[in-house]
Amino acid sequence: MMEWYRICAIDEKTFALCEPLHPEDPHSYLVLGEERAALIDTGLGVFSMKEEIRKLTELPVTVLTTHAHWDHVGSHREFEHIAVHPLELGLISGENPMTEEQLMARLFEDGWQAPAGFDASCYRFYDGGADMSIEEGGVIDLGGRILKVLHTPGHSPGSCSFYEEERRYLFCGDLLYDGALYAHLAGSDPLVYRDSMDRIARMDIERLLPGHNSLDKTGALARQAAAAFDELYEKGLLKKGSGTFSFGGFSIKLSR
Ligand SMILES: [Zn+2]
Ligand SMILES: [Zn+2]
Repeated sequence: MMEWYRICAIDEKTFALCEPLHPEDPHSYLVLGEERAALIDTGLGVFSMKEEIRKLTELPVTVLTTHAHWDHVGSHREFEHIAVHPLELGLISGENPMTEEQLMARLFEDGWQAPAGFDASCYRFYDGGADMSIEEGGVIDLGGRILKVLHTPGHSPGSCSFYEEERRYLFCGDLLYDGALYAHLAGSDPLVYRDSMDRIARMDIERLLPGHNSLDKTGALARQAAAAFDELYEKGLLKKGSGTFSFGGFSIKLSR
C-alpha cells in the first residue's frame, strides 16, 4: 500500500508526520511523554492519522492545535481530546467561512491527483469543536516532558506555539518556516505577527519544528524573520496589500 505519511524521527520520542504527496505538505508532530502523548496538529485528513499514531504509541493522545486552518485539523475527528486557543475555537465548531467548493479547490490545488483509496466525497472541514482550551502560559505535562503554551498570533488570531525547554524545541505551526509566510489572510494581522516573531527571536531554540517545509531550522531563522518584519515595518510596508517580499530563505506575503 502507498505510504501517505512520511515519518521523521526528530529524536526517539518525537516524530514529525509529513504529507509530501500533497503540495501543502503540512507537518504534524507526535510528542511522547511517559504518561501521555501530544499530537501537535493533524494534517490534511486525507488518510487516517490515528492509524499512523497507533503504530508509534499506545499512550493516550491529546491533540494540540497550533491553529485551525484546514491543513492542520484534517484528522481531528479521529481523536477524543482536542485542545485549541479560544480565538480558533469557532473555526472548528462549524463557523468556518470556507465553503465546500473552496475547501475542495485547496485540496485539489496545483493539479493534485487524489491517491487510490481516498474518497473526496467524504472530505469535510472538521467541526467537532474541542474539549480543552489552551492559552498563553499554559503548561502541558505529558509525564517527564513539559510543553509550554505561547500565544503567538499574527498568521491567525489564536495561533499557538509549544516550547519544550528541556530539548529547546519550538513547535510553531505556520508562524515560521522557510517559505512564504502568510500575513495577508483574512485572520492575519501583520503588526501582531511582527510582535510574535520578535518574541520567538529572543528565545533559545535548538530545533524549530514548523507546520511546513524544512525540519532542520533553528532559532537563527526566527532572528532573520524578526529582522525582516522590522525592516518592512520601518519602511511602512508592514500592512496588508503592500506586496510579497523575499528575504533569502523565506518571504513575507502581505498581498494575495
Ligand atoms: Zn495556516
Ligand atoms: Zn499551514
